[in-house]
Amino acid sequence: MPPALLNSELFLQKCDSLTKIKQLQSHLITHGRFQFYPSITIKLLELCALPPIANLPHATALFHHLHAPSTRHWNAVLRGLAQSVQPTQAVSWYAAMSRSSRRVDALTCSFALKACARALASFEALQIHAQVVRFGFGGDVLLGTTLLDVYAKVGNLVYAQKVFDEMPERDVACWNALVSGLAQGSRSGEALALFWTMTEDERLKPNEVTVLGALSACSQLGALRGGEKIHGYIVDTKLDTHVIVCNAVIDMYAKCGSVDRAYRVFEGMKCGKQLITWNTMIMAFAMHGYGEKALEIFEEMGRNGVCCDAVSYLGALCACNHGGLVEDGVRLFNSMAGRGMVPNVKHYGTVVDLLGRAGRLQEAYEIVKSMPIFPDVVLWQTLLGASKTYGDVNMAEMASRRLVELGSEGCGDYVLLSNVYAAHERWDDVGKVREAMQRRDVKKIPGFGYIEVEGVIHKFLNGDQTHVNSCEIYSKLDEIKFKIKDYGYVAKTDQVFHDIGEEEKENALGYHCEKLAVAFGLISTSEGTPIQVIKNLRICDDCHVVMKLVSKAYNREIIVRDRARFHRFQDGLCSCRDYW
Ligand code: ZN
Ligand code: ZN
Repeated sequence: MPPALLNSELFLQKCDSLTKIKQLQSHLITHGRFQFYPSITIKLLELCALPPIANLPHATALFHHLHAPSTRHWNAVLRGLAQSVQPTQAVSWYAAMSRSSRRVDALTCSFALKACARALASFEALQIHAQVVRFGFGGDVLLGTTLLDVYAKVGNLVYAQKVFDEMPERDVACWNALVSGLAQGSRSGEALALFWTMTEDERLKPNEVTVLGALSACSQLGALRGGEKIHGYIVDTKLDTHVIVCNAVIDMYAKCGSVDRAYRVFEGMKCGKQLITWNTMIMAFAMHGYGEKALEIFEEMGRNGVCCDAVSYLGALCACNHGGLVEDGVRLFNSMAGRGMVPNVKHYGTVVDLLGRAGRLQEAYEIVKSMPIFPDVVLWQTLLGASKTYGDVNMAEMASRRLVELGSEGCGDYVLLSNVYAAHERWDDVGKVREAMQRRDVKKIPGFGYIEVEGVIHKFLNGDQTHVNSCEIYSKLDEIKFKIKDYGYVAKTDQVFHDIGEEEKENALGYHCEKLAVAFGLISTSEGTPIQVIKNLRICDDCHVVMKLVSKAYNREIIVRDRARFHRFQDGLCSCRDYW
């Protein structure tokens, strides 16, 4: 190697900027035919393509100057592209490489698969998988884990499972990938089953990553018993020395309806609390409507010298919102600027919701108008919802127009506007909304609810008749309807379109999934056991009234977690104070 190149090797180690790389390049070009020293050109490419420099246009330009790039040259650029903000380019790069005369190796496939996972490129992942098999890399455990991870991320769980089953050797990492993949892919039940299988196998002891996946599965299902068991496992195996695991346990208890347990874990934490721990606890109290408690934690955080961030503020604002603490919320929102924090669209959304629910529509609208950022769909939906509650037709029309401009295709928006018109008996306008819905082919999101009974999760759709105990459930519902009439129940039918008959409307509402789940809960659990239900959408007015009355008529505590928050019904009242 000529001395100029030897010096270059030393210089390469100190290259930390594009300027230095360019200096080196011109030095190399003037002093020797650097083309013939792959060890140098590979390093140079890696430097350009990977962080901290990560200048991919320069890396590709350099690559195209090479006469006969080797597999390692190709891989260097591929790796950079796979980590870049445009992972799809890595997929194209991989395709170009496959067409070239260079042979791909296991590393090539691994980088390309990682890019597929990031770009959610399901089809390309399948193609690369086929090549992995063809090139004989099928037995590579690392590659297998990467494949598993890709399929889990792109949501192809059938293949994830297949890869997993075919793996000659498995380690905790592949398990973990599958548990979290299943949990993310809404196949939480399977994730939990897999987790318990792992605990029985000495070689596959679940670590902190596995328990995080399993806890997240419980949170999604609202599976309190399952969560308790995992918590027990965590304590036994001393995994609770990880702050991140404790945070997840707090979050799990809160999402499974037991805010008291969440708080006990929070208080008893031996490992130091982090900012995220405090934020999780604030949000937990907020979701359950314990506004004052959430604000106490918020204050305590400051006393403990922990600097709150935008997320803490959001939690505190949500707490005010769910707790009906209007003045506190407005004060908090206004204090953000003083602490050098810029409210984002979520903070705006929450304060607008807060004011809107309190009937202070004009103030809410003023805030929307003053926003330095562009109001999003959720914000206009919030304002539309408040306009419906307070029967403000003008505001409702204005919000709806904005929603259409923003291209919102949500069924709920149309229903809300239609309800505002219906409340004012403007049937012509109601008809127009219906037509617009049909024209735009607006799809209703199907509602569903879960209930856990003796460790088994039961799922109900609206009007579901597929449950094995369907007959008993429906006769229980009839009994409920009859019984709560004595407590003053009148169906709130204004949430259904007006052009179906009153009786039909009552039926449509009568079989909402959460009602089915509660009826099932009443049949299958012993007296006095709290009934806990999870719903994917917001609970409707009618179900809310029914739940309140059932809690009184049957003397049962009922907890419903809907898309936005928890409702705890007891003795005819709800923890949200009808404010949700
Ligand atoms: Zn309902
Ligand atoms: Zn409520």
